[in-house]
Amino acid sequence: MNSYIPFGNLKKQYEFLKPEIDKAVMRVLSSGWFILGKEVEGFENTFAQYCGAKYCVGAGNGMEALQIALMALEIGEGDEVITTPLSAAATSLAISHVGAMPVFADINPKTLNIDPDEIEKKITPKTKAILPVHLYGRVADMKRIMEIAHKNHLYVIEDVAQAHGAKFDGKKAGTFGNFGVFSFYPSKNLGAYGDAGGLITNDETLAKKARVIRDYGQDGRYNHVVIGLNSRLDEIEAAILSVKLSYLDTWNFLRKKIAEKYNSGLQGFPMILPKEEANHVWHLYVIQTDRRDLLQKYLDEHGIASQIHYPKVIYQQSAYHFLNIPKGYAPYAEEAAEKILSLPIYPELTEEETDYIIETIKNFFTHGARRI
Ligand SMILES: *Cc1c(COP(=O)(O)O)cnc(C)c1O
Repeated sequence: MNSYIPFGNLKKQYEFLKPEIDKAVMRVLSSGWFILGKEVEGFENTFAQYCGAKYCVGAGNGMEALQIALMALEIGEGDEVITTPLSAAATSLAISHVGAMPVFADINPKTLNIDPDEIEKKITPKTKAILPVHLYGRVADMKRIMEIAHKNHLYVIEDVAQAHGAKFDGKKAGTFGNFGVFSFYPSKNLGAYGDAGGLITNDETLAKKARVIRDYGQDGRYNHVVIGLNSRLDEIEAAILSVKLSYLDTWNFLRKKIAEKYNSGLQGFPMILPKEEANHVWHLYVIQTDRRDLLQKYLDEHGIASQIHYPKVIYQQSAYHFLNIPKGYAPYAEEAAEKILSLPIYPELTEEETDYIIETIKNFFTHGARRI
């Protein structure tokens, strides 16, 4: 390989989409209408339809979309929300921003998703909601989670920021809970060319509340009924997302092909490989190894980018030191954080590049490791 393999390649994606994207962006620019117009409405409708949900509400980004969902469900001060400690910090930050308390339930080490048994252990009289994350593109156990929620009268907000198009029991991720919340950050499976997010729901009242909250709490112009946010999806981003949505299934298929290639090529080495599932959308391909840091360095030296999602569980971030959560609180999540490594996986990654990554990892475990 004579060039460095990056962790993502949005430049290559844009080159492929250029005619369509340019046309969509120019359409918005010449329309003279940039905030909450027909592009946003059009994307909301097609995305809701794609997900099999009744309503979609565009938002400024994924974290604020989570905040909007929590606010629409009137979750705040004094309330607890059970979530996973192995996620993007944004998941917990949103809970904190509405004044509620994130309560961390450990993961299932086989899936790295939140463990329903652990959720049950964390329920208190203050618990208002469960906020599972469909980590790396794999849907959490929504059957068990919904059963627990019904039994305990809890709301469910699904963080679908890494699982656009994933399915569980024949239904799309995000349609099980009261809200499914998406980020359209550029590197997500469906990403804008800037910040963007959105929510889906089947509940008309909740959809309306979310629409009000995202736009200064206005119900009609200059009629402010709640202390809302400014978290609107831009017309330009909506136009871009509408173009990209038509490629999402193809892109998810290409990601799956790469994951399959990794899974067969990397077998038999001292690593834990992610288990394949029919409807996994492979936002990330994450292996686990005791020699993670050495492997990452070796890959970098051989021209391959890799990342760690995430190097610390959320409660070990200094922003959350005030919670005083001791080491060993969620042992499986803590252990995973020390072993996980995300390899490049994106539709633009070529077969040749994938083969090279596989060969390099094999070399690390057969020769490279001995040298170190
Ligand atoms: C990306 C991401 C978010 C945050 O989305 P932003 O659009 O960056 O605010 C939230 N949760 C998860 C799981 C994510 O991957």
